[in-house]
Amino acid sequence: MELVIIGGGAAGMMAALTAAEWISGHVLLLEQQPRLGRKLLATGNGRCNLSNLTSTPQCYHGANRDFVRPALEGFGVQDTLAYFQGLGLLCRSEPGGRVYPLSDQANSVLDTLRLALEGLGVTVRTECQVTGITKEGAGFLLTTPEGPIPADKVIVTAGGAASPKLGGSKSGYQLLKGLGHRCTKLFPSLVQLRTDPTYPRSLKGVRAEASVTLLRGNGVLAQRQGEVQFTDYGVSGPVIFELSRQAATESDSLTLSLDLLPQLSEEALVDLLAEKQRRFPGLTLDNLLIGMLHNRLGRTVLRYGGRKLTQSVSDLSHRDLVAIVRNCKDFRLPVTGNLGLDHAQVTAGGIRTDEFDPETLESLHCPGLYAAGEVLDIDGDCGGFNLQWAWSSGHLAGLLGSKPR
Ligand SMILES: Cc1cc2nc3c(=O)[nH]c(=O)nc-3n(C[C@H](O)[C@H](O)[C@H](O)COP(=O)(O)OP(=O)(O)OC[C@H]3O[C@@H](n4cnc5c(N)ncnc54)[C@H](O)[C@@H]3O)c2cc1C
Repeated sequence: MELVIIGGGAAGMMAALTAAEWISGHVLLLEQQPRLGRKLLATGNGRCNLSNLTSTPQCYHGANRDFVRPALEGFGVQDTLAYFQGLGLLCRSEPGGRVYPLSDQANSVLDTLRLALEGLGVTVRTECQVTGITKEGAGFLLTTPEGPIPADKVIVTAGGAASPKLGGSKSGYQLLKGLGHRCTKLFPSLVQLRTDPTYPRSLKGVRAEASVTLLRGNGVLAQRQGEVQFTDYGVSGPVIFELSRQAATESDSLTLSLDLLPQLSEEALVDLLAEKQRRFPGLTLDNLLIGMLHNRLGRTVLRYGGRKLTQSVSDLSHRDLVAIVRNCKDFRLPVTGNLGLDHAQVTAGGIRTDEFDPETLESLHCPGLYAAGEVLDIDGDCGGFNLQWAWSSGHLAGLLGSKPR
């Protein structure tokens, strides 16, 4: 039997490795780029956050998030880590459950996978873009620049449209659409948000621990706590990535409310400022928040509240102190958009999961055709969940795709 896998990213490599162990026949892995796993090398800022110990179906999104359940239950986090360990790749976890290779280098993950593919006799062809798949009797015929390639079974692991510089493309969607599948609307996820730049621009490069609330009007859509990075276009950082999916899929106008001092109550902060005012009455306002916030951030919050920085703190009333604390705890930035699929880490949306069997990842329209990874309408939260989906689904598709019909 000839099994052809289209796309040599995380899901494709895992599918090929799994299939190679079970198949009586041959596995061919086709990759359009000059190297396998280019995106994998960029993950986790080059450290590859390859999984998360807290993975459950609740960490995933799509029209039917339960679609992930059989793949995650069949080959979950511990199975994945044991599998990697069996290949010689040691991993460690950080508080919060993020898993990284012990070497802290994404290339050790990729090299381990590449060596295993070689060891298991998988044929890899790079710079080979599949541009079409047609049904040919009981099998398939793939169109490539090298000529037609026949296959008894095909697994599409061509990824999503996010981050085209690293190989993201709509090609996987087109290939599956050509065989009768449908694609949902696509959105960027895990992406930087554009906001009114008035305040962020002066804060470019500043990082702050904040509790961030995404608001529609005054209604709370989501809330997360973590690091925010200010940029000239708006905001970035892990906590923003976590909120970005919801922000990108909402059409209404949204606002981010940043609590820049989440560890202290409003009353405690007012007391602290009142104490500072009592002890240092000669201070000017531009120094009031020093020691509590990054200096530039403190001054920006005061300007945001319409304060004159040269004013003496001794002139402030109790009401003024309360208002300043409220500005620190509810620093609002209107959301104007996001940086789009070009900069997103993941595509939200994809090929409809109700057209695939979650137990096998085989197409319900086209027997012998499988799909795994980001090409499907599944995306995960920030923190290693997307790669875990790629490993789990790649494993399932490889296992079932390697079986004779
Ligand atoms: C900058 C960045 C950082 C990230 N960091 C993390 C992280 O730390 N943790 C995490 O869990 N997730 C992370 N992600 C997300 C994660 O990388 C993806 O969700 C995951 O790689 C998807 O795996 P995949 O195999 O489905 O797709 P991909 O890894 O995108 O692989 C698809 C492959 O198919 C190839 N291909 C496409 N079309 C064709 C075709 N027609 N013919 C032949 N080949 C084709 C592509 O070139 C590509 O190599 C990050 C993403 C980015 C962009």
